[in-house]
Amino acid sequence: MNSLASLIEELRILFSKVRLTEFEIEILQQKFPYYARLSEKHKKEFREKLQVILTSKSFIGRSEIRVVTPEMKLLIGATIVMVTFGWDDIRLRHFDKILIYPDTYYSTISQKYHRGEVNPRHGIIAMSWNCFLDGMKNEKDGVNLGIHEVAHALKLENQIYYNDECEFFNPEVYRSFQVLANEEIQKIKVGDQTVFRSSAGFDDDEFFAVALETFFEKPHEFFDYHPELYGALVRLMRQDPRVWIRVAI
Ligand SMILES: [Zn+2]
Repeated sequence: MNSLASLIEELRILFSKVRLTEFEIEILQQKFPYYARLSEKHKKEFREKLQVILTSKSFIGRSEIRVVTPEMKLLIGATIVMVTFGWDDIRLRHFDKILIYPDTYYSTISQKYHRGEVNPRHGIIAMSWNCFLDGMKNEKDGVNLGIHEVAHALKLENQIYYNDECEFFNPEVYRSFQVLANEEIQKIKVGDQTVFRSSAGFDDDEFFAVALETFFEKPHEFFDYHPELYGALVRLMRQDPRVWIRVAI
């Protein structure tokens, strides 16, 4: 996107921003623990960022999902805000379409059933709503489809050069994170017991996605297991879920 087009897009979002209703704020408070734990100041910031996400992305129901409900938009949007909360203005601009399937769905490309995926070519994040809700049911088990797919999108967005969002990961911090991540992947591959589930050993994309699920849902266990790796992720993501605060770099 050139700079004039992106300026026009920013103005459009600024002036058409949907305001959250009391009902929607209550859904966040009841169903999104990360939001419920924030200070009033950060809650306000969270809601403002969520309004931008809801205005700037298309939420599209697939298969039997004919109507995307406010709850679907809110909880998926809130997951994007949570993962990107360390930055002032990162909103995964490239991924402007969120596809919501009722359950696992068959991909004709991979010829497999999927719970979710990201498609950078078409700017899509796709999720099964049932699997998304399953991930939210237990906020401390380190399994959360929403965080997983948003993490894939975040890692890709950092490498996508044709919009204003790229290289927002501090390169030095990212390098040190990757060194530690590669050591961890090797451990998982040889069957060592780690804090991460075994799919994290597949490659560095899967490791990053599973590491973020663990980071947000089991931050204390993650820290106890490997303080240095946890610390690298705190600096990379610019927030520390153990204390729910933003971290100045
Ligand atoms: Zn994955």
